[in-house]
Amino acid sequence: MWKKTLAAAAAWFVAVGVALSAPPMKALIIDGRNNHDWKATTPVLKQHLESTGLYTVEVATAPPRGEDISGFLPEFADYDVIVSNYNDGELWSPEARDALVSYVHGGGGLVIVHAANNAFTSWKEFNDMIGLGWRGADFGRRLTLNDAGKVVITPPGDGPGAGHGPQHAYPVVIRDREHPVTQALPGAWMHARDELYHGQRGPAADMHVLATAYSGTDKGGTGAHEPMMWVIPYGEGRVFTTVLGHSTGAMQCVGFITTFLRGAEWAATGKVTQTDVPDDFPTLDEVSVRE
Ligand code: ZN
Repeated sequence: MWKKTLAAAAAWFVAVGVALSAPPMKALIIDGRNNHDWKATTPVLKQHLESTGLYTVEVATAPPRGEDISGFLPEFADYDVIVSNYNDGELWSPEARDALVSYVHGGGGLVIVHAANNAFTSWKEFNDMIGLGWRGADFGRRLTLNDAGKVVITPPGDGPGAGHGPQHAYPVVIRDREHPVTQALPGAWMHARDELYHGQRGPAADMHVLATAYSGTDKGGTGAHEPMMWVIPYGEGRVFTTVLGHSTGAMQCVGFITTFLRGAEWAATGKVTQTDVPDDFPTLDEVSVRE
């Protein structure tokens, strides 16, 4: 009897200890400059990350545009993953740029959300990490998929530069159902109303495309299958880009949430433990948004 009671008590202490202990990983969201509503979207991203129990989440907010950015130097190395909700062209200090590049190159994880790939046109290493960004047609290569699902590279100056038509709901097509980020997700699902980026440009080196969306000419698009999510290895590190997520509404799409959270975990560790597909995951016919 005593033994049983002691065992139950021990189990209780272990359970409480686990429940009270800090999440195993640390995430840092970067914001402060973005032509999007970062004051509204950062809390949504933070809440998504915290909901997993995997991270404590901190936010580094840069001084606003027009103010001195030279002192902005987050301690990237203290974190398991950096999530960029930041879009501005003005370069950080050489120290801050070196710190981010060294962090990712040395094995860190970087997640680029939507307009974060519009930033830093003139930063070479940033372009290498993101692969494609919101750039003019002459800037670099374009990568799309054809109707057969084959990668098509378009040279600089040929075809459109970055843009998007009016926001609408559109199907996202998974192109690799084995990769940890997209494993076992439906082959296609209806994403909530969002911008559909097209004509993105960059070095497009070592890009592995996880998902695309068809950019219809009737929706102000290109008639091509445009990349929506991709991964790039960078040194020992990993970069996950999703160009979904213009607004808080788009970020509450269960498809966005699931892929963002898996992408962040993969960027942090190279693995994904969040393998369950949520019951409320969207279907091809129906958008699914959490309130
Ligand atoms: Zn946008």
